Amino acid sequence: MSETTTSGGGHPSLPMEGVPQPGRDEVLNLPRVHISSHPVMAQKVTALRDKSTQPPEFYRHVKEIGALLAYEATANLALEAVPIETPMGPMIGQRLAGGIGVTPILRAGLGLAEGFREVIPDAQIWHLGLRRDERTLQAIAYYNQLPRQVDLQVCYAVDPMLATGGSAIDAINVLKRRDIPRLCYVGIIAAPYGLLKLSQTHPDIDIYIAALDESLNDVGYILPGLGDAGDRQFGTY
Ligand code: URA
Repeated sequence: MSETTTSGGGHPSLPMEGVPQPGRDEVLNLPRVHISSHPVMAQKVTALRDKSTQPPEFYRHVKEIGALLAYEATANLALEAVPIETPMGPMIGQRLAGGIGVTPILRAGLGLAEGFREVIPDAQIWHLGLRRDERTLQAIAYYNQLPRQVDLQVCYAVDPMLATGGSAIDAINVLKRRDIPRLCYVGIIAAPYGLLKLSQTHPDIDIYIAALDESLNDVGYILPGLGDAGDRQFGTY
């Protein structure tokens, strides 16, 4: 899964080994954290967790979960009035007030972003490449395609697994340098450790997740989790 390093005395040094982690109860009522309680979501997340689920089906489920999460995370978007003509006559309809941005954190966020596009086809997709240094677990940006001109009411950073929180925190840091009135993080499974870190570092964003798991293992993978969300979407075991 990941390489470990050896420190001075020849003992393996694992990034989460011995790191204290909060329990689920400690993060259940964090402000601005939304954990889905939708039964359809729960069934789809179970299908993802199942190790017999193969990449094509896994990707399809990620996309569908992305659409469900998009539906939940966009429930309070601002609308503006728009005059239209129905076949029966004129009326004042509604449309989203301002653009919607979706920032998939590469590469695992791609399936979720596709799900968002099913719900909001004209969302702008801003790709952001962040990878974890497996030794330090710090996020490193290797690809950044955010546009120069920004006119959005909200941008959603999407990444399936909120593990240590490093990539999510860095992605929000990158987005905060742009002129976006509202930022949100959207993920499928969170560990209490990463959820608390993200919420404390960025208390001004909304966080939407489909499930809250128990803990991280010594190398920073979520338990019980679903394994590597990128590998399982794209078949790169
Ligand atoms: N990234 C993954 O894909 N899975 C985890 O469990 C943690 C980080």
